[in-house]
Amino acid sequence: MDRPQSWQARADAWSLYGFTDLPSVHRRGAVVLTHGEGPYVVDVDGNRYLDANSGLWNMVAGFDHKGLAEAAKAQYDRFPGYHALFGRMSDQTVMLSEKLVEVSPFDRGKVFYTNSGSEANDTMVKMLWFLHASEGNPQRRKILTRSNAYHGVTAVSASMTGKPYNSAFGLPLPGFIHLTCPHYWGFGEAGESEEQFTQRLARELEDTILREGADTIAGFFGEPVMGAGGVIPPSSGYFQAVLPILRRHAIPMIADEVICGFGRTGNTWGCQTYGFMPDAIISSKNLTAGLFPMGAVILGPDLADRVQAAAEKFEEFPHGFTASGHPVGCAIALKAIDVVMNEGLAENVRRLAPRMEAGLRAIMQRCTHIGELRGVGFMWALEAVQDRASKTPFDGALSVSERIANACTDVGLICRPLGQSIVLCPPFILTEAQMDEMLDKLEQGLVRVF
Ligand code: PLP
Repeated sequence: MDRPQSWQARADAWSLYGFTDLPSVHRRGAVVLTHGEGPYVVDVDGNRYLDANSGLWNMVAGFDHKGLAEAAKAQYDRFPGYHALFGRMSDQTVMLSEKLVEVSPFDRGKVFYTNSGSEANDTMVKMLWFLHASEGNPQRRKILTRSNAYHGVTAVSASMTGKPYNSAFGLPLPGFIHLTCPHYWGFGEAGESEEQFTQRLARELEDTILREGADTIAGFFGEPVMGAGGVIPPSSGYFQAVLPILRRHAIPMIADEVICGFGRTGNTWGCQTYGFMPDAIISSKNLTAGLFPMGAVILGPDLADRVQAAAEKFEEFPHGFTASGHPVGCAIALKAIDVVMNEGLAENVRRLAPRMEAGLRAIMQRCTHIGELRGVGFMWALEAVQDRASKTPFDGALSVSERIANACTDVGLICRPLGQSIVLCPPFILTEAQMDEMLDKLEQGLVRVF
């Protein structure tokens, strides 16, 4: 095999990039990383980047947290591999399920493990189908989600995802219904107040349920704050308007907390930040602070009882992954929850979120091409526009957000281009000085483009 010389050429030659703007990466070369230091990552050429992307929202304790690595090593030494299947599970899995129910907003519940957020959403859909069929309602199969939602990449979770690129795969599958994205700035109509917008979306939900038939709908999935859709907090009162409608029609509400969970919005769960109680929670990413691929479905009391009853009736819940509840993942998750909740990381998000918001607002005042700043906690997006008043987007082959992200990379900051917006979701360990460095580098990147 002829091996090209540079790391970048080798990356290009042998790896297929996912979710990557290929013209950019071909022109610039991939950033090939060797290690991390706190919130920084370092590439093969020794360049150091402040990662305001936290890897992919997940490396909340930074890239070299000793306690997490030690928890992993201790478990690898003790009992490296097993699963939560066939009536066996590791002690770590037992302890993690207890901990997850304890820190969940539910007073009771049950946990099922997967290897990723996509699989956790997929699993939840299968659980709902299994449950409804066992209760004599096999026709309850339709899933309600929102446009711009991101729930993953498996065929089912991609069908729940409301992004146009999935049409490249002929998705969504039939029966996945996308309601309007609750983004007032983006989808509010002229003259419509935010409250009226929320009410319109609530009516759309009710009309959809009546049109489709409540007895054909399996469940509703929503991220408390849409993450990969471009950091979109719900319009005011959104969940308070939507929940009663779902309850009235006995449709389970699933909060996809893969990004929001464990502190990102300033509280343990995004549903706490937005004041609503779901029927189940989907968790991943922060669950292991990014050190192990793991997802979890956390069922609240009603669904826990009903899914358990369905499983008893069938004498089995016929679903599970080889590495479900992997002991090393569980040991890391136990430590990660402790680190985030008890070692001041969640507290740091609460303390520094106002500094992040104020810094971004100041940048927005200086940069007329920022049309909207939106976010909460440690997840924010700046939407780029040609003209703020008319909200006219930029055009051009290379999206403006891609150009900004590339310019930021050049000054040592990793941030994420999503549609027309630039997303910042730093690790929770950021110090004040690192927060200021992030804001300063972002502005340097913006100045290079505008
Ligand atoms: N749900 C949400 C809200 C996400 O943001 C993501 C990933 O970004 C997923 C699900 C899918 O998780 P994974 O990439 O681990 O499959």
